[in-house]
Amino acid sequence: MSSPYREIKERAWAANQEIPKRGLAIYTFGNVSALDRERGVLAIKPSGVAYDELMVDDLVVLDLHGKVVEGRLRPSSDTATHLVLYRSFPGISGVAHTHSTYATGWAQARMSIPIYGTTHADHLAEDVPCTAVMSDGAVGDYEVETGNQILECFRDRDPLKTPMVLVAGHGPFTWGPSSEKAVYNAAVLEELAKMAFVTRTLDPSVPRLPGSLITKHFERKHGKNAYYGQK
Ligand SMILES: [Zn+2]
Repeated sequence: MSSPYREIKERAWAANQEIPKRGLAIYTFGNVSALDRERGVLAIKPSGVAYDELMVDDLVVLDLHGKVVEGRLRPSSDTATHLVLYRSFPGISGVAHTHSTYATGWAQARMSIPIYGTTHADHLAEDVPCTAVMSDGAVGDYEVETGNQILECFRDRDPLKTPMVLVAGHGPFTWGPSSEKAVYNAAVLEELAKMAFVTRTLDPSVPRLPGSLITKHFERKHGKNAYYGQK
């Protein structure tokens, strides 16, 4: 039987396949969702299903309040975090969560990733932020509170300009205008985390990239007069 949500499920399925392909998670770690904002539904990976066994019809479709509208499996245990992000960041239609090694290393060290070079500045114009550590009282509703911690961290930030965060003691969440872009940002973040780790290991006191270079590199890709790449 054909599903009215086939397209969004296929999108989410394809984006989830990118996670192991890019080496961003092993076994069942991580999850990606894709949102159809017009219809107010998202498709997300089911909980505990390995990527190589994942079928399109295994994807779970929910509304933005978390009510399952299609699917026979339980949605990812991180679904509540995805929902908080979709409800609060109006410009996003994809969310990815991984436990990729280097990004998770920085998250576990509870450290933001300093903007050391132009690779980083090509994608975002500031350090990759790290949330505060969750208080004991908030742990009960862990997934919603994880979302709230991200919101707190983005109180004075533009989530479209900084489409990634490290959740302290846990790992990275990334997002974007599509699920493809959310996974792309997850892969970029892992690379930035790795480069920053190497840089800091070679010289723990190395300074951040000067502001002029940060602006130059970010603007040539994302500014209103962007000129990087082909038209
Ligand atoms: Zn996780």
